[in-house]
Amino acid sequence: MDYTWFYTGCFVHLGLLGTLLLTGGRKISKQDRKLSCTDCGVPNCYRKKGTYPQFCLTTNTNYEEFENANELYRSDEFVSKFSFASAEMEGAYYGKLTRVEEIIVFAKKIGAKKIGIATCGALINESKIFAKILQAKGLESFGVSCKVGSTDKTEVGLPEAIKVEKGCHESLCNPVMQAKLLNREKTDLNVIVGLCVGHDSIFIKYSEAPVTTLITKDKVLVHNPAAALYTSGHYYKRLLEEGDIYS
Ligand code: SF4
Repeated sequence: MDYTWFYTGCFVHLGLLGTLLLTGGRKISKQDRKLSCTDCGVPNCYRKKGTYPQFCLTTNTNYEEFENANELYRSDEFVSKFSFASAEMEGAYYGKLTRVEEIIVFAKKIGAKKIGIATCGALINESKIFAKILQAKGLESFGVSCKVGSTDKTEVGLPEAIKVEKGCHESLCNPVMQAKLLNREKTDLNVIVGLCVGHDSIFIKYSEAPVTTLITKDKVLVHNPAAALYTSGHYYKRLLEEGDIYS
């Protein structure tokens, strides 16, 4: 089946969305910006069955840079182990395993024994189930909630005015301590369960173990952020309208 039309549609929509977000809603014409993969309608880099676009990052990047990256896949211990395990899993189970199962298979392939769970407090039930599943599959786990430490937001200089509920104790999400407590436990692989945008960035920065994600939080779309993209042609067309709607 020819999926070109599908990819073209997705790339055009995602390209437009990315442009609007990056420019604060100010639309920049194609002539004014550097074109990239999000402007591409022929992802020839996958199967090489067509032609590359003029601006293609494959043909416009120095071959040596790709060769340097290839060398990492071949000889860097971390990169080769992770890419091999990931590719092997993709080849054997493509479209057959859920992400929960993929994490378990991947963890075993890289030799991980202890899985850290960096969970959002609001998704603690999902994390409890995930911990039980890990145990059933022979993996140890250790979970840390984002509210660990019960530090009030004002204690780190955040103003009372930006709390969700003002005038009462409201604990800060504490991704630094989530990472440090998991580091102390010497986890082999850490899994994010629904950390907020930004808190996940901090957690990844401070985590000593490699990080993957089980649940990407979306408070409106019940953790399916892609739904906003799939429906940007109708229900979420405001995303593609010019102008900042988030002030
Ligand atoms: S690398 Fe080239 S062919 Fe592949 S998506 Fe990017 S621009 Fe398109």
